[in-house]
Amino acid sequence: MKCPFCGTEMLQGYLNCGLALWSTRKHKLSLLPDGREPYAFRLKRPIVSPNHVPSSFCPHCKRMIIDCAEYDSNL
Ligand SMILES: [Zn+2]
Repeated sequence: MKCPFCGTEMLQGYLNCGLALWSTRKHKLSLLPDGREPYAFRLKRPIVSPNHVPSSFCPHCKRMIIDCAEYDSNL
């Protein structure tokens, strides 16, 4: 896959992480959405090993692309 920003071939890999939330607001303490805020991507706490989110990374402009279609969202 080519980077849509600069055209460089992207690296395919995994975002290895625990809890994660992409939301329209900043969370200071909790990573739980408040029920009213729009959020596009939520990962729950993994039980054994980290979450492994397939993603593409551009080694030139350092941007990452994640297909969020398979993850919890309220959009
Ligand atoms: Zn790029």
